[in-house]
Amino acid sequence: MKIFVFTDLEGCSGVCRFDQARRDGPRYEEGRRLLMGDIRACVDGLAAAGAEEIIVRDGHGAPYNLIPGRMDPRARYIVGPWAGRPLGGLEPDCDALVLLGHHAMAGTPDGLLCHTQSDRDGRRYWYNGRETGEIGQEALVAGHFDIPVILVTGDDAACREARDFLGHATGSGPVTVSVKTGLEREGGILLAPDAAHELIRAGATEAVSRLDHCDPYTIACPIAGRLQVMDKDFADRYDCEKNRATRIDDLTFEATFDSQRDVLSYLI
Ligand SMILES: [Zn+2]
Repeated sequence: MKIFVFTDLEGCSGVCRFDQARRDGPRYEEGRRLLMGDIRACVDGLAAAGAEEIIVRDGHGAPYNLIPGRMDPRARYIVGPWAGRPLGGLEPDCDALVLLGHHAMAGTPDGLLCHTQSDRDGRRYWYNGRETGEIGQEALVAGHFDIPVILVTGDDAACREARDFLGHATGSGPVTVSVKTGLEREGGILLAPDAAHELIRAGATEAVSRLDHCDPYTIACPIAGRLQVMDKDFADRYDCEKNRATRIDDLTFEATFDSQRDVLSYLI
């Protein structure tokens, strides 16, 4: 079994402020260490369940957040943009996707550090009319390759969003592991990272055993995509040609995707 772990930083245990997640933030090094703790717990749980091949993809910001000295040797690690590759290196023969350290979409009232793609400009995305955050976007790309999401970790709101998009009334869908509860965008109730790591480890092991209960996420294609931004000046600078987008009004852009694979390739 080959598992692709796509990491983010805002949903990691102990992370509750953007200055832990931004490269220029005074607490960024702390954020990196917290990320590595969650990754180590996840790799440990996946390996304990028998995963033979584990690929960890640094998925946050400029993707050089990983600390080599803290890498578990049972995984291999992809850093750097590697633009043009789905999810920066997802291999089509992966059996499953893990979304580690994730956060809820922009505008989620109890979403700790919530945002979609940009933590500064408030942008929001819809596909076929459904507002979708990063969890859904990444699940769509993987779904194109018939790869299901088996585990999502983050705050309560991220876990709820994962179940809304990827779960089913029958009880199938990914394992979700909440490591904190948002009370406001930069505040909430944190589990101690050591306690969170126990939950992540157990969740990763359970997720492997539930692979058969997880379906790839698919929606009807072609996909009608919409991007809404907050600021007209930003919209005026947006590169429609590069993003294959049509401007609909002051703040809204649309594009059509022939394939789920492309939802993070343009209109971003
Ligand atoms: Zn991030």
